Amino acid sequence: MGKREQIFTYRNYINGEWVVPDNASVADNINPANGEVLGQVVQSTTKDVHAAVKAAKEAQKNWRLVPAPERGELLYAIGQLLKERKEHLARTLTQEMGKVLTEARGEVQEAIDMAFYMAGEGRRLAGQTVPAEMPNKHAMSVRSPVGVVGIITPWNFPIAIATWKMFPALVAGNTVVWKPATDTPAMAYETVKILEEAGVPKGVVNLVYGSGAAVGDALVEHPDVNVISFTGSTEVGKHIAGKAGSLLKKVSLEMGGKNAIIVMDDADLNLAVDGIIWSAFGTSGQRCTACSRVIVHRHIRDELEERLLERTKQLTLGNGLDETVDVGPVITQFALQRIHEYVKIGILEGANPLCGGKIANDGELSKGYYYQPTIFTDVNPSMRIAQEEIFGPVLSIIPVESFDEAIQVNNNVAYGLSSAIFTQDVNRVFKAMRDLDSGLVYINAGTIGAEIHLPFGGIKQTGNGHRDSGLASLDVFTEWKSIYVDY
Ligand code: NAD
Repeated sequence: MGKREQIFTYRNYINGEWVVPDNASVADNINPANGEVLGQVVQSTTKDVHAAVKAAKEAQKNWRLVPAPERGELLYAIGQLLKERKEHLARTLTQEMGKVLTEARGEVQEAIDMAFYMAGEGRRLAGQTVPAEMPNKHAMSVRSPVGVVGIITPWNFPIAIATWKMFPALVAGNTVVWKPATDTPAMAYETVKILEEAGVPKGVVNLVYGSGAAVGDALVEHPDVNVISFTGSTEVGKHIAGKAGSLLKKVSLEMGGKNAIIVMDDADLNLAVDGIIWSAFGTSGQRCTACSRVIVHRHIRDELEERLLERTKQLTLGNGLDETVDVGPVITQFALQRIHEYVKIGILEGANPLCGGKIANDGELSKGYYYQPTIFTDVNPSMRIAQEEIFGPVLSIIPVESFDEAIQVNNNVAYGLSSAIFTQDVNRVFKAMRDLDSGLVYINAGTIGAEIHLPFGGIKQTGNGHRDSGLASLDVFTEWKSIYVDY
């Protein structure tokens, strides 16, 4: 048998069975570090989505009646399994998505943390009892499950984002149909295998692989899917919002970003440089919270640029499984070309490349999809490279004259996910906390590294008012029911 025939095919998981759709076509699962085919993944159709939604709807009848503490206990068991498999999951993640192993371990840890956090919610899920306005009346509110939840996730955080959504959905008494990104089928498989092993009843979680156009649209349009929780690009989010809006379907959208780090003239530059390098080039810039703009006070611009340049030149590119590597590949050949197109646009717009600016293809790197960490200076805030999400290791440096101008430049983009400021002035800190238009604000830290117990998400074109993570995520997966009892 040739190598190709031995390759594993990722199948759907519907009503507790691993199934291959009828007449299924398959897509390759590629290792972005070297182009190797790791496996194949089935491409489902509307029919498969319908079967999964039917199973989820049926299963929800019982799941909603399971006491919430018991649902929480199941999440606790899932957390234990995730913990035991952490290293295996991290390696699988690095292999199919490319982020370096330390980052992959960090991502799996987020899934573990979310499992234990939401396990505890099984013992709370608190509503309110309030003083009634009338005599002999009891007034209270409870959280009810929404029903069947459609979860659509991107490839850049294949386990963290999925579990940020799935765990609160499950603890609240919903059932799930999950459509993961086509580029990260192995992580979806590993995650659902763990849920199955932990004893999630059949039909409570269903996995359907396939394209956004076929599976995603069918999920959004299905009348028995009561809420869609989506993370991905703003373009696709708007498309989903349009469809969901016409159906009056509840939809939570977490989308793109154009995040900035402000560095004031009184900043601790050692801290600032660490924060910028990690935020701009970690995960090869493919984080929704990645820093793609540095807004720097003119007085310290030269020194900051010098230091950034020195540090960037020391970054090693390569396969993320090699623990000496700092920056892994980007996800696909298509993404690589798209990043390079943006670099060409930056040059045409008159920005000055300080370093990088090329596809990295020396030796072994030529087999994978690597882009040199790139810094542009003399960037004007209105340039496309300073306004649009590039989703790669490309950083723009924008000089400003004052704190007020820095805040204005930070806010003057379509997105509003993550912003940071480095300063030692306590007054500037509090003004920044108040005035930065972002869902996440960091003081003397980079734009990345959110924790699971606080709400995660953004404003403007980044989000539609909902949040992943923390207790706020329960608002997506529950409906408030107000109850009055006369006696
Ligand atoms: P994407 O929008 O291309 O895809 C996201 C998911 O949507 C995938 O599963 C995809 O198959 C699916 N999809 C595509 N077309 C669809 C359709 N018509 N209907 C329904 N589903 C459809 O995004 P991506 O390239 O996977 O991820 C990168 C993007 O995600 C970036 O813009 C990044 O900023 C964003 N992101 C945002 C957050 C956040 O929390 N704000 C977190 C991570 C990533």
